[in-house]
Amino acid sequence: MNFELSEGQKMIVNTARSLAGEFGPEYWRGKDEAGEFGGEFWLAVSEAGFTGLVIPEEYGGAGSGTTELMIAMEELAAGGCGMAGAWYLILSEVFGGLTVLRHGTLDQRRKYLPGIASGKLEFCMALTEPDAGSNTPNIRTSAKRKGDYWIIDGDKTFISGADRAGGMLIIARTVPRERVSHRTDGISLFLADLPDSAVQVTPISKHGINYSHTCSVNIVNLILPAGALVPPEGGGWNDLLDTLNPERMSFTAAGIGIARLAIHKAVQYARERKVFGGNPIGSYQALQFPLAEAYAGLEAARLLNLKAADLFDRGQDPAEVGAVGNMAKAIVVEYATKAVYWAMQIFGGYGYAREYDVERWWREVNLIRLAPVTQQMTLGFIGEKVLGLPKSYAAV
Ligand SMILES: Cc1cc2nc3c(=O)[nH]c(=O)nc-3n(C[C@H](O)[C@H](O)[C@H](O)COP(=O)(O)OP(=O)(O)OC[C@H]3O[C@@H](n4cnc5c(N)ncnc54)[C@H](O)[C@@H]3O)c2cc1C
Repeated sequence: MNFELSEGQKMIVNTARSLAGEFGPEYWRGKDEAGEFGGEFWLAVSEAGFTGLVIPEEYGGAGSGTTELMIAMEELAAGGCGMAGAWYLILSEVFGGLTVLRHGTLDQRRKYLPGIASGKLEFCMALTEPDAGSNTPNIRTSAKRKGDYWIIDGDKTFISGADRAGGMLIIARTVPRERVSHRTDGISLFLADLPDSAVQVTPISKHGINYSHTCSVNIVNLILPAGALVPPEGGGWNDLLDTLNPERMSFTAAGIGIARLAIHKAVQYARERKVFGGNPIGSYQALQFPLAEAYAGLEAARLLNLKAADLFDRGQDPAEVGAVGNMAKAIVVEYATKAVYWAMQIFGGYGYAREYDVERWWREVNLIRLAPVTQQMTLGFIGEKVLGLPKSYAAV
């Protein structure tokens, strides 16, 4: 067992730190307030090769793995980008890159991977529906085969990046829920090119991460060629887990990074700020202990998350990857939230002022307990799959 990063991984850390130095809190404060995409940042991470970390060299990528992607995301976030350090990479490289790489046909790989690796093709994933968030198999979006075409209809919600993406991973039912014996059967994955007049996209006003728009998506009579299906037809559930597992890990990496960033800033402030007498507020245990506890928890979460990424990279069973990945995420939700909460507290009233950025990281870190999977669902998964307790969250 070796906990050292390889030379290549250390290079990724250094590159991420230098990029995050260029696109730090002030840059993202402006983008968040303006509701604008961080185009300059995206160009820079693309040029640094981060958009193609998981993509093989033959398709223009770096040929590394999700372990390296997690390292890059955490460092970008911790170095000053906050959630933005991971967000755009999740949409394109995880939703698009990893899905096509793992389960796409040769034609799909040739079509999509070079654009994703270069950063020129942005992606998004349309899974959630108004009546299917935690209960994913409840999706109703339908895909019907007509000769050489598929016709897709349905309503999706909370689809991040759908307003900009050139590619969309659509999760649909090729067999309606009522006609399958097991609720995860009959689900299929499709790759659609955007924009398309059959896909109407409307941004949803939201709490944070406003440098990316999260949208409701109405799909009416979208016609896709037969080759848009990611095989196998009707058996997409297991393939989908290979997208949702690294998505979870990415949120964990982002959460650790945001929390490290907030702790760093809070420690600097707490060492200087004096309120009573000559001692800085950082000398009070009431403020030190929660930060220290959170920091220790974040370190533990990172080790588990890298273990999950390593299992994924070695092609282990999605259930095993999911168990470790969910445990990492369960820890990070507790400790990253705690870290940013206390960072904000340490800043007192200034924690509420936009110019100190902590309030923005608070808005960002709150997402990880709600998405991509809620904390209750994560714990329910661990309860059932790891501890062997009865299923608590869905009818069989
Ligand atoms: C900013 C943002 C971006 C997103 N981006 C995307 C995206 O790009 N693509 C995409 O497809 N989706 C996206 N999502 C959707 C996200 O994955 C879902 O919101 C999430 O899975 C939760 O689903 P829900 O909102 O329907 O909550 P619900 O499933 O309705 O859950 C509501 C509450 O009930 C609790 N609950 C439900 N069942 C149980 C139970 N058995 N025991 C205990 N508690 C329970 C949940 O934990 C939760 O607290 C995004 C969401 C947000 C907020």
